[in-house]
Amino acid sequence: MTQKPLLFTPGPLSTSATVKQAMLEDMGSRDHVFMKAVKDIRDGLLELAHVGKSSGYEAVIMQGSGTFAVESVISSVVGAEDKLLVLANGAYGERIAKMARMHQLHHEVLRFDEDTIVTPGAVEVVLKDDPAFTHVACIHSETTTGLFNPIAEIGAVCRKYGQVFIVDAMSSFGGVEMDMKNLQIDFLVSSSNKCIEGVPGFAFALCKRSELEKAKGQARTLSLDLYDQWAGLEANGQFRFTPPTLSLMAFRQAMRELEEEGGIPAREKRYKENKRLLDEGMAAMGFMQYIPAAIQGHIISSFLYPSDPAFNFGVFYDKLNSRGFVIYPGKLSKADAFRIGNIGQIFPEDIKALLKAIKEVLEEEGVRM
Ligand SMILES: *Cc1c(COP(=O)(O)O)cnc(C)c1O
Repeated sequence: MTQKPLLFTPGPLSTSATVKQAMLEDMGSRDHVFMKAVKDIRDGLLELAHVGKSSGYEAVIMQGSGTFAVESVISSVVGAEDKLLVLANGAYGERIAKMARMHQLHHEVLRFDEDTIVTPGAVEVVLKDDPAFTHVACIHSETTTGLFNPIAEIGAVCRKYGQVFIVDAMSSFGGVEMDMKNLQIDFLVSSSNKCIEGVPGFAFALCKRSELEKAKGQARTLSLDLYDQWAGLEANGQFRFTPPTLSLMAFRQAMRELEEEGGIPAREKRYKENKRLLDEGMAAMGFMQYIPAAIQGHIISSFLYPSDPAFNFGVFYDKLNSRGFVIYPGKLSKADAFRIGNIGQIFPEDIKALLKAIKEVLEEEGVRM
């Protein structure tokens, strides 16, 4: 029995005690300390993406979960005469397609199987064929399966065809080195409770300023108006509506801890080591993964249910839970699988403890692998 639950999930995830402690003091939204924290966060996020105000990029923080910031971008930057190409190979790509439908944007969805990556060649064929396209949206780390889409190559195709490139890097930003400018990304979205290891409460869009400026007056909702949110933050450092003050204070602490760990390269290394140990240990027990190793990212892994009917996921989940290990159910359309995240305040010894618990539960349940 471990002392505290460890979350092997794609967020919210396990955070450090010091990140949680940063939320213990009440904070007014017009307090100088708070406003300084917001400024530091906005500047720091751009730095993590290797861009800055001086190179023409802006960080916009949006209240709510990650989806709110994705929807803010999708519903604000695609104009009435524009056309969006949504690249989908999992639940999160489908979520963007749903946003495009609900906001009645001109759009098309290019779909790929959940166990395959988006192929840049197929994107090029579509863009070449229809000059009406102006924007392309893609998921980087498709959390449905854990695969990484090749955003560098897709970005190069977008550049060639003059497309605005929108990337949902929700579950990877902070855990994967990304140079936003080199990757030709115009809008990069992530949230507080993924690889930067803060608590839930807000998300953010890193934006190429010249594209953000075009969104003025064309948002389809008031609360998710990306341009207005930016204009408000720029004018007086204030949010238009109540900000998640304590979540922001926790996030600033989380950013400091990311730096202390050695920045994104060090964090990426830790997550990769977590994944290596997890994959090795699970394979040794006889678990198979849903997607081929060549397209797997290091954020989350999808394991197929064992074929023995003695395996019951509900029981498996509950028994791990009562031992202090929280794993994540699957979300696949064609196969039964569960997921284990490698991100958050999770270290190699935690992975080893999880593997030991999994082995015990399988034995208890008499599951033959
Ligand atoms: C977590 C996640 C989101 C956002 O989900 P929320 O529940 O709204 O925070 C979006 N895209 C991807 C790829 C994610 O992993």
